[in-house]
Amino acid sequence: MKTITITDQNEIEEIIRKCTYCSVAMVDPEGDPYVVPMNFAYKDGVVYMHSGPEGRKAKIIAHNPTVCISFCEGHELVYQSEQIACSYSMKSRSVMCVGKVQLIEDMEEKRSVLDFFMKQYTNNTCGYAKPSLLNVKVWAVKVEKMSCRSFGLRPSEAR
Ligand SMILES: Cc1cc2nc3c(=O)[nH]c(=O)nc-3n(C[C@H](O)[C@H](O)[C@H](O)COP(=O)(O)OP(=O)(O)OC[C@H]3O[C@@H](n4cnc5c(N)ncnc54)[C@H](O)[C@@H]3O)c2cc1C
Repeated sequence: MKTITITDQNEIEEIIRKCTYCSVAMVDPEGDPYVVPMNFAYKDGVVYMHSGPEGRKAKIIAHNPTVCISFCEGHELVYQSEQIACSYSMKSRSVMCVGKVQLIEDMEEKRSVLDFFMKQYTNNTCGYAKPSLLNVKVWAVKVEKMSCRSFGLRPSEAR
C-alpha cells in the first residue's frame, strides 16, 4: 500500500478538524519525552489547548515550550493480499505540527479562545465561573512547521 505526502493546506486543515483530540509531545528537563492526549481547537495556523495550572506538562512547557503535536484521523485496516502480512496497512491520514506554547493571560482573550474551543465540541451555550477562568491555562501554539501524510492507499488512490 502507498503512502503519500499531502501539501494542500485545505486538506491538511480538514484532517485536523476531523480529530477530536491530538497528542502533544514535549521534552522534560532531564531529556525524557512526554506525550499527552489533549483536546484542541485549530484556527488560522494556531492550535489552542487548555490545561490546569499544575502537573508535569505545565512544568515542562514552562521550562521548554517547544511541542510537537500529532493529529490522526481514519483508522481502516486495508490489505492487498489477505495472506501477506506486509501487504497490510492502516488507511489513515496524519498531521504533525511543531511550535512553541504561549500562554494566553488576557482574560477576555482567554474567554474568547475558550468559547471558540467549546464550539468545536458542543452546540450548547456554556459560561465560565470567574475562578475557573482565572485558574485555567490557555495554550496557543503558532505552527512553525507542519507536515502531512496519507497512509494505506491503493496505487489507484495515490495521486
Ligand atoms: C482524549 C483525551 C483528551 C484530553 N484532553 C485534555 C485537555 O484538553 N487538557 C488537559 O489538561 N488534559 C487533557 N487530558 C488529560 C491529559 O492527557 C493528562 O492526563 C492530564 O492533563 C494530566 O497531565 P499532567 O502532565 O498534568 O499529568 P500529572 O498529573 O502531572 O501526571 C503525573 C504522571 O501521571 C501519568 N499520566 C498523566 N497523564 C496521563 C495519561 N493521559 N495517560 C497515562 N498516564 C498519564 C504520567 O506518568 C505522568 O508522569 C486528556 C486526556 C484524554 C485521554
